[in-house]
Amino acid sequence: MKILFLGPPGAGKGTQAVRVAQELGLAHVSTGDMFRALDSDSDLGRRVASIMESGELVPDEIVIEMLERRISEDDAANGYILDGFPRTRPQAEALDAFLGDDGLDRVVVLEADADELVGRILARGRADDTEEAVRTRLAVYDRDTEPLIAFYEPRDVVDRLSGVGGIEEITESILTVLRG
Ligand code: AMP
Repeated sequence: MKILFLGPPGAGKGTQAVRVAQELGLAHVSTGDMFRALDSDSDLGRRVASIMESGELVPDEIVIEMLERRISEDDAANGYILDGFPRTRPQAEALDAFLGDDGLDRVVVLEADADELVGRILARGRADDTEEAVRTRLAVYDRDTEPLIAFYEPRDVVDRLSGVGGIEEITESILTVLRG
């Protein structure tokens, strides 16, 4: 099973992706985690870190290559949850080309309103969570990533769920949808 989690920054995507992946025995594939794990002394690591701090997106070519390599690893053979990729139309098209006929099974969209999002992001206090970067990330989501919901909609794989509420309760609602 190949599942994509979509949603604005702060909607709880990462938290839920980890929990659902564990529950379903799928690999959790987070491009953000992969970037944060890069060697900060390498050229690529430095370049990516400064982009992440600004809240902008890492160039598509870099992300796509990294993601394709990651989902080719053994632990992804049984399926995976994509968390944070694709974030742009070119990334979504590259993923389609890479997967061919064996495309995404489900797209789970976690929704929350803007006030909830900003409050949550500032509360988690990650290094790339300065107020300006947060504002940029929300704008980038609206501009580049939110349109992917409409891109996947015609395939009848999209489920929209509220990301507001208790962590366990939301995990259960996602599992119910995926098992249904
Ligand atoms: P995340 O942990 O998913 O919130 O990602 C943190 C940051 O990593 C983002 O704000 C981007 O700068 C970068 N990033 C993660 N995934 C992608 C992606 N698919 N495309 C471009 N940049 C990404």
